[in-house]
Amino acid sequence: MLGCASAELDVLVDAGLPFEERAGVRHFDPNDLYNLGMYSGRTTTQPELAFRMLFRFTRRPVEELLRRKSWSFRLRLECPECAGPAPWHVAEPDVARFGGGLADVTAPAAGAGRAAYAATVTTTGARTPLVSPALRALVADYLGAGHRWQMLPVAMQADFRLVHALGATSCVAASLLLADRFRGAGFEAEARRGWFCGVLGGALDLPHACVEVLDEDGVLKSIDIAKAQLAARLSADTEEFRELCLGSIHNKAIPSTASANAPLARHACGSRVPVEVRSDIRAVR
Ligand SMILES: [Zn+2]
Repeated sequence: MLGCASAELDVLVDAGLPFEERAGVRHFDPNDLYNLGMYSGRTTTQPELAFRMLFRFTRRPVEELLRRKSWSFRLRLECPECAGPAPWHVAEPDVARFGGGLADVTAPAAGAGRAAYAATVTTTGARTPLVSPALRALVADYLGAGHRWQMLPVAMQADFRLVHALGATSCVAASLLLADRFRGAGFEAEARRGWFCGVLGGALDLPHACVEVLDEDGVLKSIDIAKAQLAARLSADTEEFRELCLGSIHNKAIPSTASANAPLARHACGSRVPVEVRSDIRAVR
């Protein structure tokens, strides 16, 4: 899966790759292993193959991404160390701001342990590229800085200064940094968590975030900075999609009501262990 022999792992361990030894077996962090495969340059590792398949759509004409589209949207919530029955709080899809809609909502009733949220979410696209030269310059600076997108533990992604100081980035960290820079330049901006849809039939569930900023033309723009960066890494002919990521709205993104470093769901039972959220989002045919 990693295109990597055991001897190569030994070299990395000697260079500081962390692991825990349990019963004589080395256990690595799954994020580390994913990044190892992703940046191995082998082209055949599982993370590289998954990434290419996931981003195939970025090479197609973008008109497809501007149409109205409906999604069967389902979240499974689990409170791993639940302290008892209590209400659930879910950061719902927040699509009306961008011309979308929410229907057939089944919100979880108060209870313990596990719950589900379901809805039909309609998204749409619109070409609303960033117009402010100041905002465009901040985005270009960021994209030119060469931060390397990595899988990172969710809690670490919120510490965007640390992540970028290490030369790394992620959807959440990049969105938080850019929102901070936009605000520093005098714009109203907020990084929001959300979902990226239609990915391998809902099988891959990556933390996702975008930056929303009020542009100087008075229009709320959405910047999916990490997608622009990843598409550029995939191939040069993704230019149209990358431009769409810089201010426009596309139908594969569902913003939530949560800010980028907030959880998507919580359970009011009093447990300090965060709720686990698994999303399953499929196109309605
Ligand atoms: Zn609970």
